[in-house]
Amino acid sequence: MPRQPSHDAGTSSRQLPVILAPHADELLSSWISRHASFYAIPPLGMLRHCLPEVSSLRSADRNLTATQVTRLAGIFSTEPATLRRMTFSNVAPASRRLIAARPLQSCACHSGDHEPRPLLRSQFLGWRITCPLCGDLLERAGGHDRPSPFDRYKG
Ligand SMILES: [Zn+2]
Repeated sequence: MPRQPSHDAGTSSRQLPVILAPHADELLSSWISRHASFYAIPPLGMLRHCLPEVSSLRSADRNLTATQVTRLAGIFSTEPATLRRMTFSNVAPASRRLIAARPLQSCACHSGDHEPRPLLRSQFLGWRITCPLCGDLLERAGGHDRPSPFDRYKG
């Protein structure tokens, strides 16, 4: 649910007037995009409002500096550590090139009626087999034309 900060936050604050609660395991770019949708502006416009120097949402998920994380956390009124957990910063640099460009899998537990639907970090990590939220096997997007090397491990 949106929550309203107190009115004495000060006009000099760049904090957003309404902050949407992040979903569990939600990707930072998804959270930013949902705010863009809420404010009816393009997702990249929302990102540029916060971090003018960052070129893309994809880059925001992968390459934020500690300073940028702190600035973004201030705008979204959250803890830097919370915000950092929404990025791929915990993925070892050598593995980051294995992060998918698009969501490649999903789980029934997070395909609810949310609109727009949040994207979760696990949806981009091809090496993740199970959902971090419920423990079920993640379903590959695209169905039968995209065989997964993990298919042989399924029942
Ligand atoms: Zn699940």
